[in-house]
Amino acid sequence: MASWVAGLIVSGEIECNGCGRVMRHPERYAHVTEDDKPRLRLCEKCSRAKGYLKKRRDEKGREVETFL
Ligand SMILES: [Zn+2]
Repeated sequence: MASWVAGLIVSGEIECNGCGRVMRHPERYAHVTEDDKPRLRLCEKCSRAKGYLKKRRDEKGREVETFL
């Protein structure tokens, strides 16, 4: 089974498939595609809860969150 997570910016309004909250521009969301499953759009909070959004440090030591 393959899955693909893309970090995207909301354009307009999108409803989170995790918590049902409406996300608005310019929030980030995770677009999750898995074989044989409907696509999921998750807000940052749900992405974090599911492990799709990870804290990392960039080359200057700043903490950044990136989607897998
Ligand atoms: Zn959510």
